[in-house]
Amino acid sequence: MKIPFVSFEVMHREISDEITEKFREVYERNWFIQGQELESFEQEFAAYCGVKYCVGVGNGLDALYLPLKAYGIGSGDEVIVPSNTFIATALAVSYTGAEPVFVEPTLESFNIDPERIEEKITDRTKAIMAVHLYGQPAPMQEIREIADRHGLKVIEDSAQAHGATYRGRRTGSLGDAAGFSFYPGKNLGALGDGGAVVTNDKELADKVRALGNYGSDYKYHHIYQGNNSRLDEVQAAFLRIKLRQLDRWNARRAEIAEQYRKGIHNPKVILPAVSEGNTHVYHIYALRCQERDALEQYLNERGIGTNKHYPIPMHLQGAYEALHIPEGTLPLAEEISATELSIPMYYGMTEEEIAYVVEAINAF
Ligand SMILES: *Cc1c(COP(=O)(O)O)cnc(C)c1O
Repeated sequence: MKIPFVSFEVMHREISDEITEKFREVYERNWFIQGQELESFEQEFAAYCGVKYCVGVGNGLDALYLPLKAYGIGSGDEVIVPSNTFIATALAVSYTGAEPVFVEPTLESFNIDPERIEEKITDRTKAIMAVHLYGQPAPMQEIREIADRHGLKVIEDSAQAHGATYRGRRTGSLGDAAGFSFYPGKNLGALGDGGAVVTNDKELADKVRALGNYGSDYKYHHIYQGNNSRLDEVQAAFLRIKLRQLDRWNARRAEIAEQYRKGIHNPKVILPAVSEGNTHVYHIYALRCQERDALEQYLNERGIGTNKHYPIPMHLQGAYEALHIPEGTLPLAEEISATELSIPMYYGMTEEEIAYVVEAINAF
């Protein structure tokens, strides 16, 4: 049996007619940037997240960078970033001119350990990036309390957690602002690049919208040195169609996770845990195994696609050489990089395929 790490096939087959009809509609409307599809998507996605405002942007990286920039964070400032995340979280900080300060995760949740945040806060710290890694919300209550004690902004990196909930509230509604990515492989993915900022802060939403549109609040009137980062009509239109299916597609991911949890009982493998009060949307189903590379090879040889999130921690990447954080300084991020293995998780996996993955892991 051949099981890819990820496949859009079944998901996209289900909406194929709707997508092609919608494409024709947008095509014939002849209006491709900042039109009615974007406006509708922004309203629908804000409502979905449980917030007042949504601003479509070009990608997830910009959806994190623009709120930081809009809050006035820049050169000389520091922003707390988990040591275990996709590098975009840190790059968003670096692009403002501020410095990312890495804080270790817990091995159980893979998310930032709130107990370790305060020791990294200085008088230059301006914000905390709360990443809902792999689809599970970060410990927002603790993060909020720390942020309030020190007067910091909380920006959620929700790029992997569309639809996940924390104590009954959706991600995107838990911080001062949140950035989402609609990269095709995300739980809500466009057919290309896309992103959105969501917030209840009207001033922030207006500023993000202007910053992503050449710093313009109305046409040919420029109040900031902005950039060009917009969600186009075609992608917004596709996202509206997919948003209507998101909860159903996420529910299937949760079912697959439940079957993995019930079925996998290899003592060499640690399954992901869901923290109390959270629902997990399993953007990534992350195992840990001390013999990770052998397990990966074993599964690949049996036709099962895998991935590692992420094989090199950020502090050991060339991009962050200048921070001079030597190996061994962030041992938990390094441990996760060395032991994490992601196994197939996507809407459309069949019962047979799930059972095959379970059996293969148990036989390792
Ligand atoms: C995907 C991702 C991003 C960046 O999104 P893009 O749309 O690829 O720019 C940011 N943070 C995390 C955690 C991600 O997984």
